[in-house]
Amino acid sequence: MHNDFNLCPMCGSKNIQNKNDRKWFCPDCGFDLYCNVAASVGVLIFDDDKNFLFEKRAKEPKKGLLTQPGGFIDADESAEEAVARECREEIGAQVTDIRYLGSYPNTYEYKNITYKTCDMFFTAKLSGCQKLADLAKRLNRQETEVEEVVIQKITSATDIDALPLAFISTRNALKDFFKRG
Ligand SMILES: [Zn+2]
Repeated sequence: MHNDFNLCPMCGSKNIQNKNDRKWFCPDCGFDLYCNVAASVGVLIFDDDKNFLFEKRAKEPKKGLLTQPGGFIDADESAEEAVARECREEIGAQVTDIRYLGSYPNTYEYKNITYKTCDMFFTAKLSGCQKLADLAKRLNRQETEVEEVVIQKITSATDIDALPLAFISTRNALKDFFKRG
């Protein structure tokens, strides 16, 4: 997908140009707009039996596919704060043992605009939860975002390949997690 404007948002000129989907500039008024990579977080929540918590997406993009709790980082918010907030909002849960895993580039298509993101992944545990399967049904999910909380046991790269994941960043984060043991 290609991000574009027909008119300069400042002066209305039709000469506005796009460079590498990253910058728009208008030769008539000097308007410059950068579409920088957006920072977001993803949280891999798992228990001692290697059960992982996923959300079946309730809306586009990638409706019906699996993702993990997470989302865009708000202005003036740290990545760690975003982790706690997104878990609170999306699955009504408090997470502990938040640890940084790594960052994974992703592409997010939303209403005909392509956003390039850098997804920072963390691992975490649910407070007071030994077995995810017992808790999943009791979680207070955000219905506009999450159709269903899905618990999946993952023991190998083959298991990861078989998951109907919404985003490549989740797949890469999971693979990294298992590679590191
Ligand atoms: Zn202009």
